[in-house]
Amino acid sequence: MKAYDVAIRGAGIVGQSLALSLARLGLQVALRPDPARAAGADDVRAYALNASSVALLRGLKVWDALPPQAATPVYDMQVQGDTPGSRLEFSAWEQRVGELAWIADAAVLERELAAAVRFAPHITLTNDEVQAPLTALCEGKASATRAALGVNFEQHDYGHRAIAARLTTTLPHQGVARQWFGAPDVLALLPFDAPQPEASYALVWSLPEARAHELLALDAAAFEQALMQATEGAAGELKLATERASWPLMHAQADAWCGSGWVLLGDAAHVVHPLAGQGLNLGLADVVALTQVIEARETWRSLGDEKLLRRYVRERLAPTWAMGQVTDGLLRLFSHEAPGLRELRNRGLSLVNHLSPLKRWLTARALDA
Ligand SMILES: Cc1cc2nc3c(=O)[nH]c(=O)nc-3n(C[C@H](O)[C@H](O)[C@H](O)COP(=O)(O)OP(=O)(O)OC[C@H]3O[C@@H](n4cnc5c(N)ncnc54)[C@H](O)[C@@H]3O)c2cc1C
Repeated sequence: MKAYDVAIRGAGIVGQSLALSLARLGLQVALRPDPARAAGADDVRAYALNASSVALLRGLKVWDALPPQAATPVYDMQVQGDTPGSRLEFSAWEQRVGELAWIADAAVLERELAAAVRFAPHITLTNDEVQAPLTALCEGKASATRAALGVNFEQHDYGHRAIAARLTTTLPHQGVARQWFGAPDVLALLPFDAPQPEASYALVWSLPEARAHELLALDAAAFEQALMQATEGAAGELKLATERASWPLMHAQADAWCGSGWVLLGDAAHVVHPLAGQGLNLGLADVVALTQVIEARETWRSLGDEKLLRRYVRERLAPTWAMGQVTDGLLRLFSHEAPGLRELRNRGLSLVNHLSPLKRWLTARALDA
């Protein structure tokens, strides 16, 4: 029987990236895909990826293999509060970076990773029960192996659902990501170049469950009308280019991220609201941190040594917790109808807009999860 150094369960973007990263260290990796799921099948989402995530994917030779229309740079971001004139704007130029983020096609990215995994010399795809010194759990938020280990996943369900779809529009997107904070909706239009070059968006619209189901039940024309109302036509005439899909939203964190011989990464360890587009960025930052810890380990230390794995957890816990608090706090702030709070949060947006150092700090946090 083949000897493996690491067994990875879950071949989503985090699991596949980890397999490629560890294989590059010369480790023998067994990657267990979910037999029930085809890679990225029908995922209509596009992910906002920060510079660190792009650097990781580039290093794995995946980023530059993406077709050009599968990744679109974001040069500006406009955040609109729920009173006229309350607005926060970020620009790559003002922040002195090439771009604020990239919007990447989720399905294409997952497929490109799957192709790289198939050709990687040290990775074996297998559904067998594999024994290895370290098992990395990348099974996503509903990880069954995490539950079998008895790890508590502290979960706060928002009672909200995110609707995602691809849209085309009549105005060029000009690399501008747009977000509307209503109370309690959050609507994001991420600039995208497919199906219509320079005139498409990826939609992420978070709403209370009941309202989300109402919108999902509408026919395409009525849904497009609701979109036009919510965006007041600012992004042009929006048309659905794909089916709509939806996800329930939560904030969650495992109360243990590692033990002797096992470790959690990505959504299996933590889930944040997608309003800041940071969930996958956090998961890919986990991959970078664990790879570095493993690469720097003492030669005598086993890969499954809990002391070693705790170094990874120490590095990742604080930034993940902070991002969870920011997204959770923003959502709570914008989900209250009280007039005083409404005034305060909208003034807050405009105030931040005029404070360059704070904006630069916020951008730096978002660029490097
Ligand atoms: C609407 C929406 C928009 C989002 N937008 C963004 C964004 O713009 N930017 C961003 O950074 N993040 C975003 N996210 C978050 C992002 O989707 C997740 O953080 C990311 O997909 C987590 O990746 P993962 O590989 O950890 O988990 P998953 O993507 O859930 O992958 C887990 C994999 O493990 C498999 N699996 C499960 N159980 C087993 C098992 N027992 N054995 C084998 N395989 C198993 C699953 O089938 C799946 O393939 C968004 C989320 C939502 C809901």
